[in-house]
Amino acid sequence: MVVVDVQNDFCEGGALAVAGGAAVAEGITRYLREHRAAYDVVAATQDWHIDPGPHFSDHPDFVTSWPVHCVAGTPGAELHPGLDTTGIDELFHKGEYADGYSGFEAHACGTGDAGAASSAASSAAGRPRDLARWLTDHGIEAIDVVGIATDHCVRATALDGARAGFAVTVLTDLTAGVAPDATERALAELADAGVTITDSGTPS
Ligand SMILES: [Zn+2]
Repeated sequence: MVVVDVQNDFCEGGALAVAGGAAVAEGITRYLREHRAAYDVVAATQDWHIDPGPHFSDHPDFVTSWPVHCVAGTPGAELHPGLDTTGIDELFHKGEYADGYSGFEAHACGTGDAGAASSAASSAAGRPRDLARWLTDHGIEAIDVVGIATDHCVRATALDGARAGFAVTVLTDLTAGVAPDATERALAELADAGVTITDSGTPS
């Protein structure tokens, strides 16, 4: 499973709040409590901006430019407290100096259970492990994608996952979108790209 950007700034009260964000955090926690054993590994991505250029704007259009959010090392960039992180194997950061919509642009932080080993392997290889490499190293061929926001980072992550050859499923009830029309378009685009669109089957 890939949990995308369930961070304080994307939940209610955050700098770029998405309606339903906190409920997604709690929904993923409930779902993983029941289903964690069905997943070999769980990765979580974080938008982690240092200087992302025009991704930040004082006059954001909420399409390609945004208010300042998820600044590296700030509380807004932390995972939402409603998300239970105990079952998460590795954290991936993205967007330090770019938009960073896709989790497949992210690199492992070496903070998970397998962190020490993966960090050592990364430095030995001379570069941090990206998400595709990490998944492949764990023998993963199929991923479920959940998180925030359906019409932006979930969309980009699922599309890149499909392009990278993974069988991708988006569990829509464990996602939240910025705009309803853009979310509908994103789900249609994902379905066209061969991504399975379904729900988790977990009562909310
Ligand atoms: Zn961002």
